[in-house]
Amino acid sequence: MALTAKSHSATMSDGFKIPLMGIGTYGDPRTTPKGTAYESVKHAIDVGYRHIDGALVYFNEHEVGQAIREKIADGTVKREDIFYCGKLWNTFHPPELVRPALERTLQTLQMDYVDLYIIELPMAFKPGDTFYPKDEDGKYVYHETDLCATWEIECHPYFTQPKMMEFCKQNGIIIVGYSPLGTSRDPSWVNLKSPPLLEDELLVSIANKYKKTTAQVALRFNVQRGVVVIPKSFSLKRIKENFEIFDFSLTGDEMKAIEGLNRNIRFVELLMWSDHPEYPFHDDY
Ligand code: NDP
Repeated sequence: MALTAKSHSATMSDGFKIPLMGIGTYGDPRTTPKGTAYESVKHAIDVGYRHIDGALVYFNEHEVGQAIREKIADGTVKREDIFYCGKLWNTFHPPELVRPALERTLQTLQMDYVDLYIIELPMAFKPGDTFYPKDEDGKYVYHETDLCATWEIECHPYFTQPKMMEFCKQNGIIIVGYSPLGTSRDPSWVNLKSPPLLEDELLVSIANKYKKTTAQVALRFNVQRGVVVIPKSFSLKRIKENFEIFDFSLTGDEMKAIEGLNRNIRFVELLMWSDHPEYPFHDDY
Protein backbone atom coordinates (compact mmCIF):
# COMPACT_ATOMS: atom_id res chain seq x y z
CA MET A 1 0.00 0.00 0.00
CA ALA A 2 1.24 3.51 -0.83
CA LEU A 3 2.55 5.51 2.10
CA THR A 4 0.70 8.77 2.68
CA ALA A 5 0.79 11.48 5.34
CA LYS A 6 -2.48 10.10 6.74
CA SER A 7 -1.75 6.40 6.33
CA HIS A 8 1.75 5.13 7.03
CA SER A 9 1.50 2.53 9.76
CA ALA A 10 3.03 -0.90 10.20
CA THR A 11 0.94 -3.61 11.83
CA MET A 12 2.54 -5.28 14.83
CA SER A 13 2.22 -8.98 15.63
CA ASP A 14 -0.61 -8.26 18.10
CA GLY A 15 -2.60 -6.45 15.38
CA PHE A 16 -1.98 -2.95 16.76
CA LYS A 17 -0.61 -0.34 14.37
CA ILE A 18 2.42 1.87 14.79
CA PRO A 19 2.90 4.93 12.55
CA LEU A 20 6.20 4.68 10.66
CA MET A 21 6.82 8.37 11.24
CA GLY A 22 7.07 9.68 14.78
CA ILE A 23 8.61 12.64 16.55
CA GLY A 24 11.45 12.25 19.05
CA THR A 25 11.32 14.50 22.09
CA TYR A 26 14.72 14.23 23.73
CA GLY A 27 16.55 17.53 24.15
CA ASP A 28 19.28 18.16 26.71
CA PRO A 29 17.30 19.38 29.76
CA ARG A 30 20.22 21.63 30.77
CA THR A 31 20.06 23.67 27.56
CA THR A 32 16.51 23.31 26.24
CA PRO A 33 14.25 26.18 27.35
CA LYS A 34 11.11 25.18 29.26
CA GLY A 35 8.08 24.88 27.01
CA THR A 36 10.05 23.82 23.92
CA ALA A 37 8.82 20.22 23.92
CA TYR A 38 5.27 21.46 24.56
CA GLU A 39 5.33 23.80 21.54
CA SER A 40 7.11 21.24 19.35
CA VAL A 41 4.67 18.42 20.05
CA LYS A 42 1.64 20.66 19.52
CA HIS A 43 3.10 21.77 16.19
CA ALA A 44 3.96 18.20 15.25
CA ILE A 45 0.35 17.09 15.82
CA ASP A 46 -0.86 20.05 13.76
CA VAL A 47 1.34 19.10 10.82
CA GLY A 48 0.20 15.48 10.95
CA TYR A 49 2.46 13.43 13.27
CA ARG A 50 0.50 10.86 15.25
CA HIS A 51 3.39 8.95 16.85
CA ILE A 52 5.22 10.61 19.73
CA ASP A 53 8.32 9.15 21.35
CA GLY A 54 8.98 10.28 24.91
CA ALA A 55 10.43 9.19 28.25
CA LEU A 56 10.37 10.06 31.93
CA VAL A 57 14.13 10.56 31.85
CA TYR A 58 13.84 13.30 29.19
CA PHE A 59 12.42 15.49 32.01
CA ASN A 60 9.88 17.03 29.64
CA GLU A 61 7.23 14.31 29.64
CA HIS A 62 4.82 16.66 31.46
CA GLU A 63 5.11 19.12 28.55
CA VAL A 64 4.59 16.36 26.00
CA GLY A 65 1.49 15.15 27.87
CA GLN A 66 0.13 18.68 28.09
CA ALA A 67 0.58 19.18 24.34
CA ILE A 68 -1.21 15.91 23.52
CA ARG A 69 -4.05 16.64 25.93
CA GLU A 70 -4.55 20.14 24.53
CA LYS A 71 -4.64 18.86 20.95
CA ILE A 72 -7.27 16.33 22.03
CA ALA A 73 -9.23 19.02 23.88
CA ASP A 74 -9.25 21.39 20.88
CA GLY A 75 -10.55 18.62 18.62
CA THR A 76 -7.48 18.23 16.38
CA VAL A 77 -7.14 14.57 17.34
CA LYS A 78 -8.76 11.92 19.46
CA ARG A 79 -6.74 9.96 22.02
CA GLU A 80 -6.99 6.84 19.86
CA ASP A 81 -5.38 8.70 16.93
CA ILE A 82 -2.17 9.16 18.95
CA PHE A 83 0.51 6.52 19.44
CA TYR A 84 2.59 7.39 22.51
CA CYS A 85 5.71 5.44 23.42
CA GLY A 86 7.03 5.80 26.99
CA LYS A 87 10.16 4.25 28.50
CA LEU A 88 11.23 2.43 31.65
CA TRP A 89 14.39 4.09 32.96
CA ASN A 90 17.44 2.16 34.21
CA THR A 91 16.70 2.76 37.91
CA PHE A 92 13.32 1.00 37.71
CA HIS A 93 14.30 -2.42 36.35
CA PRO A 94 13.39 -4.62 39.39
CA PRO A 95 10.00 -6.15 38.50
CA GLU A 96 8.23 -4.57 41.49
CA LEU A 97 9.27 -1.08 40.30
CA VAL A 98 8.01 -1.44 36.72
CA ARG A 99 4.36 -0.76 37.40
CA PRO A 100 4.99 2.23 39.70
CA ALA A 101 7.36 3.67 37.06
CA LEU A 102 4.71 3.31 34.37
CA GLU A 103 2.15 4.88 36.71
CA ARG A 104 4.55 7.77 37.26
CA THR A 105 4.75 8.28 33.51
CA LEU A 106 0.96 8.22 33.23
CA GLN A 107 0.70 10.72 36.08
CA THR A 108 3.30 12.96 34.46
CA LEU A 109 1.53 12.80 31.11
CA GLN A 110 -1.88 13.01 32.79
CA MET A 111 -3.05 10.31 30.44
CA ASP A 112 -4.80 6.97 31.05
CA TYR A 113 -2.56 4.78 28.96
CA VAL A 114 0.49 4.68 26.73
CA ASP A 115 0.48 2.73 23.48
CA LEU A 116 3.92 1.25 23.95
CA TYR A 117 6.17 0.98 27.01
CA ILE A 118 9.69 -0.16 26.36
CA ILE A 119 12.84 -0.79 28.36
CA GLU A 120 14.90 2.29 27.53
CA LEU A 121 18.29 0.58 27.92
CA PRO A 122 19.07 -2.97 29.03
CA MET A 123 21.52 -1.67 31.68
CA ALA A 124 20.07 -1.41 35.18
CA PHE A 125 21.24 1.27 37.61
CA LYS A 126 20.89 1.23 41.39
CA PRO A 127 17.16 1.60 42.08
CA GLY A 128 16.07 4.79 43.79
CA ASP A 129 15.10 8.34 43.13
CA THR A 130 18.45 9.38 41.64
CA PHE A 131 18.26 8.76 37.90
CA TYR A 132 22.06 8.74 37.41
CA PRO A 133 23.35 7.26 40.70
CA LYS A 134 27.08 7.66 41.38
CA ASP A 135 29.29 6.58 44.27
CA GLU A 136 31.67 8.85 46.23
CA ASP A 137 34.33 8.35 43.53
CA GLY A 138 31.95 9.61 40.84
CA LYS A 139 31.44 6.14 39.32
CA TYR A 140 28.00 5.08 38.11
CA VAL A 141 26.35 2.56 40.45
CA TYR A 142 24.99 -0.34 38.42
CA HIS A 143 22.50 -3.00 39.40
CA GLU A 144 22.17 -6.66 38.42
CA THR A 145 19.11 -7.66 36.47
CA ASP A 146 17.79 -10.73 34.77
CA LEU A 147 16.85 -9.11 31.53
CA CYS A 148 14.87 -10.49 28.66
CA ALA A 149 14.01 -7.33 26.85
CA THR A 150 12.76 -5.83 23.69
CA TRP A 151 15.14 -3.28 22.40
CA GLU A 152 14.90 -0.08 20.35
CA ILE A 153 17.51 0.09 17.61
CA GLU A 154 19.56 2.88 16.22
CA CYS A 155 19.00 2.88 12.48
CA HIS A 156 20.03 5.23 9.64
CA PRO A 157 21.94 5.03 6.33
CA TYR A 158 25.32 4.66 8.10
CA PHE A 159 23.92 1.93 10.35
CA THR A 160 21.38 0.06 8.27
CA GLN A 161 21.27 -3.05 10.51
CA PRO A 162 20.98 -5.70 7.75
CA LYS A 163 21.32 -8.65 10.17
CA MET A 164 18.82 -7.20 12.61
CA MET A 165 16.41 -6.39 9.76
CA GLU A 166 16.50 -10.01 8.59
CA PHE A 167 16.05 -11.39 12.12
CA CYS A 168 13.12 -9.06 12.80
CA LYS A 169 11.49 -9.85 9.45
CA GLN A 170 11.66 -13.57 10.12
CA ASN A 171 10.17 -13.11 13.59
CA GLY A 172 7.48 -10.55 12.77
CA ILE A 173 9.15 -7.76 14.78
CA ILE A 174 8.94 -4.12 13.75
CA ILE A 175 12.06 -2.00 14.18
CA VAL A 176 11.89 1.50 15.65
CA GLY A 177 14.99 3.37 14.52
CA TYR A 178 16.13 6.05 16.91
CA SER A 179 18.58 8.78 15.87
CA PRO A 180 17.47 8.41 12.22
CA LEU A 181 19.24 11.67 11.30
CA GLY A 182 22.50 10.74 13.00
CA THR A 183 21.72 12.36 16.38
CA SER A 184 22.22 15.92 17.62
CA ARG A 185 25.97 15.19 17.78
CA ASP A 186 26.06 16.10 21.45
CA PRO A 187 29.71 15.52 22.49
CA SER A 188 28.68 14.29 25.95
CA TRP A 189 27.32 11.04 24.44
CA VAL A 190 28.15 10.98 20.70
CA ASN A 191 31.51 10.17 19.17
CA LEU A 192 32.16 13.25 17.03
CA LYS A 193 34.82 11.40 15.01
CA SER A 194 31.99 9.74 13.12
CA PRO A 195 31.06 11.60 9.92
CA PRO A 196 27.91 13.75 9.95
CA LEU A 197 25.23 11.69 8.20
CA LEU A 198 23.32 14.61 6.74
CA GLU A 199 26.37 15.82 4.78
CA ASP A 200 26.79 12.53 2.93
CA GLU A 201 27.41 13.11 -0.81
CA LEU A 202 25.02 10.46 -2.04
CA LEU A 203 22.23 11.73 0.20
CA VAL A 204 22.95 15.27 -1.02
CA SER A 205 22.72 14.23 -4.68
CA ILE A 206 19.48 12.28 -4.20
CA ALA A 207 18.07 15.18 -2.18
CA ASN A 208 18.89 17.59 -5.02
CA LYS A 209 17.17 15.33 -7.55
CA TYR A 210 13.90 15.37 -5.61
CA LYS A 211 14.27 18.96 -4.31
CA LYS A 212 14.26 17.52 -0.81
CA THR A 213 16.72 17.75 2.08
CA THR A 214 19.18 15.04 3.09
CA ALA A 215 17.15 14.59 6.29
CA GLN A 216 14.03 13.87 4.25
CA VAL A 217 15.93 11.34 2.10
CA ALA A 218 17.36 9.59 5.18
CA LEU A 219 13.89 9.37 6.74
CA ARG A 220 12.18 8.28 3.53
CA PHE A 221 14.75 5.50 3.10
CA ASN A 222 13.84 3.90 6.42
CA VAL A 223 10.11 4.46 6.18
CA GLN A 224 10.07 3.00 2.66
CA ARG A 225 11.65 -0.21 3.97
CA GLY A 226 9.20 -0.44 6.86
CA VAL A 227 11.42 0.89 9.66
CA VAL A 228 9.69 3.29 12.06
CA VAL A 229 11.59 6.58 12.49
CA ILE A 230 11.37 9.06 15.36
CA PRO A 231 13.45 12.08 14.30
CA LYS A 232 13.73 14.66 17.04
CA SER A 233 13.34 18.32 16.23
CA PHE A 234 12.39 21.29 18.37
CA SER A 235 12.43 23.58 15.32
CA LEU A 236 8.91 24.21 13.99
CA LYS A 237 10.26 24.42 10.44
CA ARG A 238 12.19 21.13 10.65
CA ILE A 239 9.34 19.29 12.42
CA LYS A 240 7.21 20.08 9.34
CA GLU A 241 10.05 19.33 6.93
CA ASN A 242 10.66 15.91 8.47
CA PHE A 243 7.03 14.96 7.98
CA GLU A 244 7.06 15.91 4.29
CA ILE A 245 8.33 12.57 3.04
CA PHE A 246 5.14 11.13 1.66
CA ASP A 247 5.10 13.09 -1.62
CA PHE A 248 8.09 11.33 -3.20
CA SER A 249 9.57 7.87 -3.28
CA LEU A 250 13.03 6.47 -3.86
CA THR A 251 13.70 4.12 -6.77
CA GLY A 252 14.90 0.58 -6.15
CA ASP A 253 18.40 1.58 -7.27
CA GLU A 254 18.45 4.54 -4.90
CA MET A 255 17.32 2.33 -2.01
CA LYS A 256 20.14 -0.10 -2.81
CA ALA A 257 22.69 2.72 -3.13
CA ILE A 258 21.67 4.11 0.29
CA GLU A 259 21.85 0.63 1.80
CA GLY A 260 25.40 0.55 0.42
CA LEU A 261 26.31 3.52 2.63
CA ASN A 262 26.24 1.28 5.69
CA ARG A 263 29.47 1.71 7.65
CA ASN A 264 28.32 0.15 10.91
CA ILE A 265 28.68 3.54 12.52
CA ARG A 266 26.78 3.66 15.77
CA PHE A 267 26.41 7.26 16.88
CA VAL A 268 24.89 6.41 20.27
CA GLU A 269 27.69 4.37 21.80
CA LEU A 270 27.11 5.27 25.47
CA LEU A 271 30.76 4.54 26.18
CA MET A 272 30.47 5.96 29.69
CA TRP A 273 28.53 2.78 30.54
CA SER A 274 30.64 0.33 28.51
CA ASP A 275 31.83 -1.39 31.73
CA HIS A 276 28.24 -2.29 32.62
CA PRO A 277 27.88 -6.12 32.56
CA GLU A 278 24.82 -5.76 30.32
CA TYR A 279 26.36 -3.13 27.99
CA PRO A 280 24.59 -4.10 24.76
CA PHE A 281 26.91 -2.85 22.05
CA HIS A 282 29.79 -5.33 22.37
CA ASP A 283 27.67 -7.76 20.35
CA ASP A 284 26.61 -7.46 16.72
CA TYR A 285 23.03 -6.90 17.80
P1 NDP B 1 18.03 12.49 15.48
O1 NDP B 1 18.76 11.61 14.53
O2 NDP B 1 16.55 12.52 15.46
O3 NDP B 1 18.63 13.95 15.28
C1 NDP B 1 18.20 15.06 16.04
C2 NDP B 1 19.07 16.25 15.63
O4 NDP B 1 18.89 16.56 14.26
C3 NDP B 1 18.74 17.49 16.43
O5 NDP B 1 19.95 18.19 16.66
C4 NDP B 1 17.83 18.27 15.48
O6 NDP B 1 17.96 19.65 15.74
C5 NDP B 1 18.43 17.91 14.13
N1 NDP B 1 17.43 17.91 13.04
C6 NDP B 1 16.14 17.53 13.10
N2 NDP B 1 15.55 17.64 11.89
C7 NDP B 1 16.50 18.10 11.04
C8 NDP B 1 16.50 18.42 9.66
N3 NDP B 1 15.41 18.29 8.92
N4 NDP B 1 17.67 18.88 9.12
C9 NDP B 1 18.80 19.01 9.86
N5 NDP B 1 18.85 18.73 11.18
C10 NDP B 1 17.72 18.27 11.77
O7 NDP B 1 18.60 12.12 16.95
P2 NDP B 1 18.10 11.72 18.39
O8 NDP B 1 19.27 11.07 19.01
O9 NDP B 1 17.45 12.87 19.08
O10 NDP B 1 17.02 10.56 18.15
C11 NDP B 1 15.64 10.81 17.96
C12 NDP B 1 14.78 10.40 19.14
O11 NDP B 1 14.93 9.01 19.39
C13 NDP B 1 15.13 11.05 20.49
O12 NDP B 1 14.71 12.38 20.60
C14 NDP B 1 14.42 10.10 21.44
O13 NDP B 1 13.02 10.38 21.43
C15 NDP B 1 14.72 8.74 20.79
N6 NDP B 1 15.96 8.09 21.33
C16 NDP B 1 15.87 6.98 22.13
C17 NDP B 1 17.02 6.35 22.63
C18 NDP B 1 16.94 5.16 23.55
O14 NDP B 1 17.91 4.82 24.16
N7 NDP B 1 15.84 4.50 23.68
C19 NDP B 1 18.34 6.78 22.31
C20 NDP B 1 18.37 7.91 21.43
C21 NDP B 1 17.21 8.49 20.98
P3 NDP B 1 16.66 20.64 15.94
O15 NDP B 1 15.91 20.14 17.14
O16 NDP B 1 17.28 21.97 16.15
O17 NDP B 1 15.87 20.54 14.66
